[in-house]
Amino acid sequence: MSAIIPAVTVGPGQGPSTATKEPRAVAVGPADERTAGAGGAGPLDTYANNPPGGGQRAERRRSRLRARRVLWRESSLKRVRACGRTATDAQGVALVVSEGAPGERIAGYRGVATCGSVWACPRCSVVIAERRAQELREGLSGWGRRGGAVVLLTLTMRHHRGQSLDELWDGLASTWSRLMAGRPWKAFKAAAGLVGTLRVVEVTHGAAGWHAHIHALLFLDPAQGRRFATVGGADSEFEAHFAAISARVPVLASWRNLLRGRGFDAVEAAQDMRPVSLSAAGTELDRYFTKGSWDAAAEVTKGPSKRGSTGSRTPMQILADFVATGDADDLDLWREWEAGSERRRQMTWSRGFKRELGLTDVSDEEVAAEHRGDEAVLMLSALQWRVVRESALYWLLLERAEACDDLSELGGWLDSAAERALVDRPRAG
Ligand SMILES: [Zn+2]
Repeated sequence: MSAIIPAVTVGPGQGPSTATKEPRAVAVGPADERTAGAGGAGPLDTYANNPPGGGQRAERRRSRLRARRVLWRESSLKRVRACGRTATDAQGVALVVSEGAPGERIAGYRGVATCGSVWACPRCSVVIAERRAQELREGLSGWGRRGGAVVLLTLTMRHHRGQSLDELWDGLASTWSRLMAGRPWKAFKAAAGLVGTLRVVEVTHGAAGWHAHIHALLFLDPAQGRRFATVGGADSEFEAHFAAISARVPVLASWRNLLRGRGFDAVEAAQDMRPVSLSAAGTELDRYFTKGSWDAAAEVTKGPSKRGSTGSRTPMQILADFVATGDADDLDLWREWEAGSERRRQMTWSRGFKRELGLTDVSDEEVAAEHRGDEAVLMLSALQWRVVRESALYWLLLERAEACDDLSELGGWLDSAAERALVDRPRAG
């Protein structure tokens, strides 16, 4: 157990509700100094700019945690404002470690809320995407063992002025349903032996407003394809692909017609259906998860360098730009994104097919809240937790726990670091 931080360093008004009473920030940037400064531990960062050990992994985590902390203040979603911040366990928040790769220790906090937002959380979206990618790889390899094939279908749409993101998304979902109910799709399904689909939604924002894309893996069972029912063995994948491709033109035309009938549009050249090998299919779909991730956005942004008005951005890039610059228009866009994406699914399996592949259903919230074999190495008092989460100690403590030789020294290290953070705290403004 660690000692309590001397109460004398904490002035009145530093109670649990301090964070919510802080005046709303005018601007967030230039990001890290301000974020750390607001948390009262700027000076800690000056001797810890290079994370020990984990290097890149630690850098990425710092970036996610900083962005998430900006959302504690700016998000319109209650669960995102609480993610990684609000203690949920009466026992308090624990610093936990678990085994990573051989010789690697991974630290985290337990007893803290997780939002489970696949769309709006720089941390949870990464954790969820990793799990979904792993599930997909398992599903695909099982499908391969059963002699199946897959094709990748890409369908896009864009909105006209005056339509909200919400309308766009509703339009996407209902047009997909109508596509599958139509004759071209049914003909395609019968010809190619389509037995299941996995649909992933991707949204970007550009000069013409919001764009939505569907990337769907179509699972083909050659034995059920009408044209090639007698073909088997090594040729079956090729035959299934051939059947799919020969039926694709009416499917793509149907998508566009249905969109236009509902006041949307799509660029013809952006619609695509193509064969992919089972071993490449996971990677193809992975690309759409990772492209939209916080990590990719932070990599592109690298400081306040907003892209031109013609470049399209993922929502996480919009957030990264806001974190870097504090641009109020970006914040408005981000909040529109939060409202429009809330309760929407990123991945949708056709009914029963996930189970058919032997995969279990685990919700995004469950994935985000999971811990693997954690060992609590330090219990934090309520006050310690407030100091940690509002300062650079939020990640420095994790890095220390991952790199130090003797975990029993962490309590003492935290006490002195936290005391410095409180003493160095700039005047509240
Ligand atoms: Zn979260």
